[in-house]
Amino acid sequence: MITITTIKDMRDYSAEVRRNGKTIGFVPTMGYLHEGHLGLVRESVLTSFRTVASIFVNPAQFGPNEDLDKYPRNTEKDKELLEGVKADVLFFPSVREMYPEGYSTYVTVEGALTDTLCGALRPGHFRGVATVVLKLLNIVDPDRAFFGQKDAQQAIVIKRMAKDLDLRADIRVMPIIRDEDGLAMSSRNVYLSPIERAKATVIYKSLSAAVDLVKKGERSVREIKLAMSAMLEAEGVRTDYIAAVGADDLRPVEKIKGRTLIAVAAWVGSTRLIDNVIVER
Ligand code: AMP
Repeated sequence: MITITTIKDMRDYSAEVRRNGKTIGFVPTMGYLHEGHLGLVRESVLTSFRTVASIFVNPAQFGPNEDLDKYPRNTEKDKELLEGVKADVLFFPSVREMYPEGYSTYVTVEGALTDTLCGALRPGHFRGVATVVLKLLNIVDPDRAFFGQKDAQQAIVIKRMAKDLDLRADIRVMPIIRDEDGLAMSSRNVYLSPIERAKATVIYKSLSAAVDLVKKGERSVREIKLAMSAMLEAEGVRTDYIAAVGADDLRPVEKIKGRTLIAVAAWVGSTRLIDNVIVER
């Protein structure tokens, strides 16, 4: 695997691959890689001639009181992991390379997709995400780009942007990878103390309870949310939201009907975690 740090070298690499009529798969990440990321890379390696993974902790998507400065990093370990799953290129630009002095352009996906869920609580977050993803897609110019269902709203926002702006890349969304106890893998799990780590499993337990309720015929979102919040509260886990929304349009629903995304954002101690399931009726 080679590491590329400049936009020019990344463009040259991709142009050469494409000149030879070959395909590029791309996996954007913020690093501190885990099996969730590696699953995306494996899928890219299976489907594309060359796979580029990027590591860039994007300042534009962090709010002023968020964890940008303490976001976990371990690039040497990440490189080993990427080598292990046969990525061809690590694109690892600096903040200066991506946002040089005078940088002034941002992309916003407007309306219902970003007004809700994390968008309502993290102003500017999806503006930062859309901007960096568009820049990365322009630089890497992949045939397909892989994202995780773990960040369900992000995946929908990026798909919308790709469609609206006629991007060339095919946006693919892969299932959530979990630890054995169900906790969705996340770079932020490293913040959790052992006690918090144990408490955090209630998030997926509450989502699984929601799935069971729907299977048993429960349609009322109010009842499902009550059951979930009781479980979360019992563990002292505070929620930013428990939401049931249309899986494609993110509009709130009162009854489970069609494909519905049930999503949670919760605080375990000072760590904010998100997770979700899709139920279908
Ligand atoms: P991040 O480094 O957190 O920005 O994540 C980079 C990509 O990996 C995003 O598309 C995430 O949705 C995806 N991802 C993160 N965690 C998981 C997971 N547990 N399962 C599947 N995809 C994930």
